[in-house]
Amino acid sequence: MNPSPDLAKPIEMLGRLVAFPTVSRDSNLELIDFVREWLRGLDADVRLTFDDDRRKANLFATLGPRGDGGLVLSGHTDVVPVDGQDWDTEPFALTQAGGRLYGRGTSDMKSFIAVALALLPTWVPRLNRPLHIALSYDEEVGCLGVGRLIQDLAGAGLRPSGCIVGEPTLMSPVIAHKGKRSYRCTVRGLAGHSAYAPKAVNAVEAGAEAVAHLKRIARRLRDSGPFDRGFDIAHTTVHTGVMRGGTALNIVPHHCSFDFEMRYLPEDDPDALLDELRSYIRDHIEPEMRAIDETAGFEIVQMSEIPVLDTRAETQIVALVHELTGTRDVGKVSYGTEASQFQRAGIPAVVCGPGSILQAHKPNEFIALEQVEACERFLGRLMERLCEKP
Ligand SMILES: [Zn+2]
Repeated sequence: MNPSPDLAKPIEMLGRLVAFPTVSRDSNLELIDFVREWLRGLDADVRLTFDDDRRKANLFATLGPRGDGGLVLSGHTDVVPVDGQDWDTEPFALTQAGGRLYGRGTSDMKSFIAVALALLPTWVPRLNRPLHIALSYDEEVGCLGVGRLIQDLAGAGLRPSGCIVGEPTLMSPVIAHKGKRSYRCTVRGLAGHSAYAPKAVNAVEAGAEAVAHLKRIARRLRDSGPFDRGFDIAHTTVHTGVMRGGTALNIVPHHCSFDFEMRYLPEDDPDALLDELRSYIRDHIEPEMRAIDETAGFEIVQMSEIPVLDTRAETQIVALVHELTGTRDVGKVSYGTEASQFQRAGIPAVVCGPGSILQAHKPNEFIALEQVEACERFLGRLMERLCEKP
């Protein structure tokens, strides 16, 4: 299938964006500069906010008339790494084949950004209400960047009336997602010769007992809820993703650490789950450790948090997205997005974007051309609405 002629510009723009290898650990400044250049000539107010060492930036642009209100189109510029993945195409070069566009970030989520940017020159001169573009860094490592952008808006007195986050939902509106908390747990033991193991404190074994308890909590949540059947995974999940410890078999390891996360339903309380782990450690693991070395024990540090998104179905932004997509979908998803941080800042948000989350983060990530086309229709209608007299 050849793309219809009006897809040429979004595809060209997507090619430009995919070619910036904006893996979260690396700088995104070249992409940000490119977008800034693109906005030149469109009379945009551009605000940048940076990370601590100024290697990465958020961009917030206001187009059309200034003042309160207007809509935010929001996306993250970073992508997940391709290390260790077996790609059939060059991940940072857009490749078209069989009605699909391949490349890292095509689904998650440079296509939404590309379509929005490609449409701006057509619509901006006719806007009657503000249109904002919000591009963030460090979304893929825990939605760390967008907070600074949102804080800056508040400081600048900007008050958009709604936000659409273009994460891949196959253009189906999503109004709720789970919250996420991630933690690092560090275990301090006491090293020793393994022949004298009972005189040492084995940090790996202590850590393993804590991980096993997390698994017990996860099973209980799976079997007994609470449940919300609107979510594809209907219960809160707990998962350990990384564990480190030990150096040699004949040494009792004095150190262990593991990273775990909770992805919780709006009605669940992550603090209560964490307390459950803490009291198990305090009552069942640490006493035995401290009987040998009183400085042994656990430390748990929160690494990141994505709040729950729970936008009410009767909100204006939901009505607008329903009208523009021609659906009444009120989807709920298990993954977190930046939408909840906009919502928490008083900007009601909906997630709706092209592509499928099932293609995200994988080798041979792609987006179907028909998704790019659906996104172009959606954003075209949206910009048309912003051109109507208020
Ligand atoms: Zn994403």
